[in-house]
Formats: sequence, C-alpha cells, structure tokens
Amino acid sequence: MGIASLPIVDIRHLLLRRPSRYLVTRLLKLITGSVDHYNGPETAIAASIDAEIRHLQAIAHYHVGKIWGYANGIAIYGHGIMYHYAVGATGTIYWLRNLSDILWHCGHGTGNTTTVAVHTPIGGKQHPTDKQWNAKVMLFEALADDRGFNVKSNTKGHMEWGQSECPGPVLMPMLDAWRKEPAAPVIKRYRIKFNDANCRQGPGLNFPVAATFHAGHEFDGKRILGQAINGNPWWIHRAIDGLGMFHESLCEEV
Ligand SMILES: [Zn+2]
Repeated sequence: MGIASLPIVDIRHLLLRRPSRYLVTRLLKLITGSVDHYNGPETAIAASIDAEIRHLQAIAHYHVGKIWGYANGIAIYGHGIMYHYAVGATGTIYWLRNLSDILWHCGHGTGNTTTVAVHTPIGGKQHPTDKQWNAKVMLFEALADDRGFNVKSNTKGHMEWGQSECPGPVLMPMLDAWRKEPAAPVIKRYRIKFNDANCRQGPGLNFPVAATFHAGHEFDGKRILGQAINGNPWWIHRAIDGLGMFHESLCEEV
C-alpha cells in the first residue's frame, strides 16, 4: 500500500516558497529511507486542521527567512519548508514539498539526498496522539512500499544522521521500539508485580485509572507503545476485557 492509498492533504500551494538556485532535485529512485523530526520546543497547536496548517505555514516562513549558509559571503536562504510531510495531532498527513526536492533537514549530505523528511509538530516532552502516531507509521510504511526499502531498518530519527536532539525524548524511543517490534502483536499471559497497580484507560500517566489490581493478578495482554516512563515506552493492554493498560514495569510475563 503506497502513498496514493493514504488520505493526504496537499498543502504545497499554501506554503511560502523562494525561488533558489540552491534547490536541487533528485530522481525518486534515489530515495532509500525516511527521517522523523519534531518541533524542538513544545507547541500549543489546537487539534484542528486550520491550526495545524497555520503552524506549518509559520515553519515555512521561518525556513525561507533563515540563513542556512554562505556562498562567497552571500547568504543562502531557504527555498521553502524543509520537510516533505507533516503529521498533525488530528492524524492528518500534510503534503508539504515534492519528494523530488532535496531538503536540508537532517544535517547530513547523504541523509538529505536519500531520505524523505517527516515532521511531527510536537516538542519537549509532548506525546503524539494515537491518531498522529498511527498515521505517521502508515506514512513511513507507504513510503517504504513505494520506494522498495525496508521500513524498519531505513526509518531513522534526525539524531541518527546529524548532531541533534531531534526527534526528542518521546518520539525517538517510540520510533526505536516500533523498529524492534515484531510484525504482529502477540498475546501473552502477564502477572502484576506490585500492589495497587494502576490499569489506565490509555498508554500514559495522564489517562484516568480504570481499575487497580494487586500483586499476583494475571491477565492476557499485548504490548503497545505509549508514554515512555524511565525510558520504557511499552504498555501492556488487557487483550480480553479491554479494561485498559498497565505500564510494562508493573508486569511480568508468566
Ligand atoms: Zn529534525
């Protein structure tokens, strides 16, 4: 299932561009991977398509106005937003630039030439919404299907190409865990290790507690990705009653 099968909102025409002789294009067959990015600082974007587009327009404005380097003492400005796609909290995938455009996004010549840049407009310790994460994984898979590269080995965080914190302390562990995840979720038997273990309605500490269980309680569950706690983003979702999920640190496999 390639890109053409995904619902993608094309906003290329809504984003500021600057004609530039430094815009270099490539043959699509040179694309061998994708790169995940985040915003750096936290964002305060309403989960609406209008607000997400305004945010992307502001980034385009910033990238066009920024001096990226100098040639013979003359400033080199950006030719447009330096991401090919973005995925908002609404789960909307936005198309920002032609895939044939080589963008300056990961601080590495080969990385820029051979990858597709995908932006997630969250920052700091913000967590992607489920819709946002799922849409982004679908996008990575579709890009890999179209170009015939291995999605798990060739989807990287910005920091894996160049000096950067990007995609940050939340997305990088999620990306890494997803890459190591087996193809299909496996249901296993788990036992709760501690008394008063919280079963939450979602995979994060900000979700309400659905129920509390004591040490020794057993259930069937499957691992899902969620908020990283002490660097561990895995949660165990109760597979049978759907009551909720425990952070993996509260459970052991039986
Ligand atoms: Zn980045």
